[in-house]
Amino acid sequence: MTDLLISASRPDRGRSLPSREARVELVLALAVVSACVLLAVFGTRVRAFELFEVGACVLAYVVAARITLYMGGGSALPTQLALVPMLFLLPLALVPLAVLCACALASLARRGSPVGVRLLTGAGDAGYVFAPVAVLIAAGRPSLDEVTPLVLALAMLAQWGLDAILSVGREWLGRGIRPAAQLRVMALVWAVDLLLLPVGLLVVAVASNVVAAVLALIPMLVLLGAITHDRNERLVEALERLEELERNRARVRTAVQRLGRSIGASLDRATTLEVILDAAMDVVAVPVGRIEAGDHVHDVGWPSIGVRTLVAQAEKAALALDGPARAEADGWVALAEPLRVPAGGTLAVAGPRTTIAAEDERLLAYLSGQAASALRVIDLHELLERQATVDEMTGLANHRRFQETLGKAVAHAGRADEPVSLILVDVDNFKRVNDTFGHQCGDEVLKAIGAILRERTRAADTPARYGGEELAVIMPGADAAGACALAEELRAAVAAAVVDGPEGPVSVTASFGVAQLGPSAPDGEGLVAAADAALYVAKRTGKDRVIFDRAATTFR
Ligand code: GH3
Ligand code: MG
Ligand code: MG
Repeated sequence: MTDLLISASRPDRGRSLPSREARVELVLALAVVSACVLLAVFGTRVRAFELFEVGACVLAYVVAARITLYMGGGSALPTQLALVPMLFLLPLALVPLAVLCACALASLARRGSPVGVRLLTGAGDAGYVFAPVAVLIAAGRPSLDEVTPLVLALAMLAQWGLDAILSVGREWLGRGIRPAAQLRVMALVWAVDLLLLPVGLLVVAVASNVVAAVLALIPMLVLLGAITHDRNERLVEALERLEELERNRARVRTAVQRLGRSIGASLDRATTLEVILDAAMDVVAVPVGRIEAGDHVHDVGWPSIGVRTLVAQAEKAALALDGPARAEADGWVALAEPLRVPAGGTLAVAGPRTTIAAEDERLLAYLSGQAASALRVIDLHELLERQATVDEMTGLANHRRFQETLGKAVAHAGRADEPVSLILVDVDNFKRVNDTFGHQCGDEVLKAIGAILRERTRAADTPARYGGEELAVIMPGADAAGACALAEELRAAVAAAVVDGPEGPVSVTASFGVAQLGPSAPDGEGLVAAADAALYVAKRTGKDRVIFDRAATTFR
C-alpha cells in the first residue's frame, strides 16, 4: 500500500483517473464548489474588503500549492503559510471561494494529468478549508488580537480532522487505499501545518497594518520551491536508477534460468562445467570459482593459497552437509554447493566480499542443481555411446564402430592421398581351446589378445573385435610394410602370451592377414575381402603367421 502511495506521488508521474475514482472526485468537487459559492453569496456579514488583499492571499496560496515537499512515503504542501493570513485578513465567508480559486489555479499550472482531471482534483483539495472557517465563525470572527489559543487549537484540529476525513475517504472510496497506510502520510501533513502556523500568524500581525506584507511570503516560497524542485529532480533520478536496477536484476534472473535450461541441452562435459562456473561467478559477481565433478576440475582466477584454502573449506563443508556452505576469512568469502552426481563434486565461488545476498545463494543452488542434471544426462549419453560402440568383453571397438571407422579412414585416405591398411586376426584352433578348457577360458584368451592389440597399436590405429574370435586393426596412414611389421609384432606377442587355465597355463597362436587400400582393394569392403583372403592363405599354409596377399593388393 505504501508503495502504491509512493508511486502515485512520484513527482514526474501524471495519471488519468479510473472511472470509480473520477466519480468520487466529481461528487466531492461539486459539493465543494457549491458550498463555496453558497457561503460567499449568502454568508452573513461580509465586511468590506479590498481586491488587493484577496489577490495577494490567493497568489501566495497558488505559489505555496505549487511546492510539493516529499518526505518519507508521502508529501505535503506549505499552503498553511497562505491559509492563516486568509483566515484573519479576508472576510471568512469568502475564504473557501478564495482557496478554491487558488487550488484551481495551482492545479492548472501542474503538469502531467489532463486539464479536466487536474481541475477536478484541485476543487476537491479545497474542501478542508470549511473546518477552520466554521470554527472561527462560531467563535465570533475574532481578529488576531482577539483570538484565544483555544480557538486557534480548535480551528487547527478541525482543519486536520476534515482534511483527514476527506483525504482518507477520497483515497479509500476512489482507489482502495486503506486508511492505516494513509494516516501515516497525513501525520506528515499535520506536522508541516503546525510548523508553519507561527509564520502564518506573524504575517497576519504585520499585514494587519501593511497588507502588502502577505506578498513578502512569495520570495520565501519561491526559494523553498527552487530547493524542493531540485530535490525532487534528484528523487526522480534516484527512483529511475532504482527501477533500472530492478529491471537489471530481473534480466539476470531470466538469463540465469535460460542458461540453466541450455546447459541441460549440451552434451560436452568440459564445456558444460566451464559454462556453469562462468555463470555462477557472473551471478555472484566474484573473481574466483572452482567446479569439480568426478575426475573433472575446472577453476578460474586463483589469487592466493589463502583463497584456495578458503574454497577448499567451503567445498568440504558443502560435501559434509550435503547442502550450501560458506567459509570466511580476511574479508573474503567462499560459497560452495554440492553437485549431486554419482561421481560427487562441488560448485564453489569466492570473492573479496563480506556480504552475499540470499538471492545469490539461491541462484548458485539453482545452477548447481542444473549442473547436476546436465552431468547426469552426459553420463547417460556417454554410457549409451560406449555401449553402442565398444565390445564389452575385450574393450575394443565393436563391429559397428569398426565399420564406421573403416569407412572414414578409407574416405580420408582417398582425399589426402595417404595409405590405409587393415590387419585381420583369427585365433588358431580356438574351438579346441573352448572344447578343452571351457568357454570361460576361451573368453580369457580373447581378452588377453584384445589387451595385446590395445597396448601395441598406435593412437591413430583402431583395434576392433570384428566378430567371434576374429579381431582387426585399422591403420590409417600405414602402408602394407608398416602393417606387416605391426602384425608380426602382434603375432609374436600372442604366441608368447600365457593365460591361466583351469588345468594350468594356456597359450595360443593366431594368424594374420594384411591388406592395403589400392586398385584391387579400392574401398572398405574390398579391403576386408583382401585381408580375409590373406588370412585364409595364412591358415592354409600352417597358421601362426602373417600374410600380405601380394597377388590381391598392390603397393601404391
Ligand atoms: P582355425 O584355426 O581354423 O581358426 O580353427 P578354429 O577352431 O579357431 O575355427 P572355428 O572358426 O571353427 O572356431 C571358432 C570358434 O570360436 C567357434 C566359437 O565357439 C568360438 N568363439 C567365437 N566367439 C567366442 C567367444 O566370444 N568366446 C568363446 N569362448 N568362444 C568363441
Ligand atoms: Mg574364425
Ligand atoms: Mg579361429
